[in-house]
Amino acid sequence: MKILVIEDQRRLGQFLKKGLSEHAYTVTWVQTCAEARDALCETGYDGIILDLGLPDGDGLDLLREWRKSGFNEPVLILSARDAVQDRVRGLDLGADDYLSKPFSLEELLARIRSLLRRQVSTKETVLEHRGIRLDLLARTVTRNGEGVDMTSREFALLEVFLQNAGRVLPRTLICEKIWESHYDVDTNLLDVYMSRLRMKLETDAAKPLFKTLRGVGYQLL
Ligand code: CA
Repeated sequence: MKILVIEDQRRLGQFLKKGLSEHAYTVTWVQTCAEARDALCETGYDGIILDLGLPDGDGLDLLREWRKSGFNEPVLILSARDAVQDRVRGLDLGADDYLSKPFSLEELLARIRSLLRRQVSTKETVLEHRGIRLDLLARTVTRNGEGVDMTSREFALLEVFLQNAGRVLPRTLICEKIWESHYDVDTNLLDVYMSRLRMKLETDAAKPLFKTLRGVGYQLL
């Protein structure tokens, strides 16, 4: 399980990195909003621990950005701000949990476990959207009840869209989820796969299924 820790207090950051690593998490620790953005562009995480007061901005702005652009990683806010309205604001912006400082490592670990469990149990095995039905266990796709042949890569791509229907998915995020290392991927390849998906699934040109946001990414409508 990969955890991204965003915390500018050096001692606390080191403590979190050490404590989580000892419990078998793979931890990346960054100290600024800029580093957090870079880290998230580079790879995906199973969970994010987010401090709010950061030297180059507010953690809540980061959270707002992520949720707007379709990042759905679970986020636990770790902050000294513990007024009810701060918590509510964080949760409204899409945080999954909120822990105020000071805290105990035991409690943090328990919250992370619960966060990751929730993530797994909400993962449905059949995804449906506008007549398209993808069965994760049977590895089949149907469109209005009729079977559609898909390669494993096309299947994985469709799965990402169905799990984020309506969200704008940045190209880097899609590539990261589909290919093990998106550095090796010519991003034109994504466009090739998108046109194949469209050919197989968009039977009515008047009712497009995917929207292209030039230079940004794609959206399942
Ligand atoms: Ca701070």
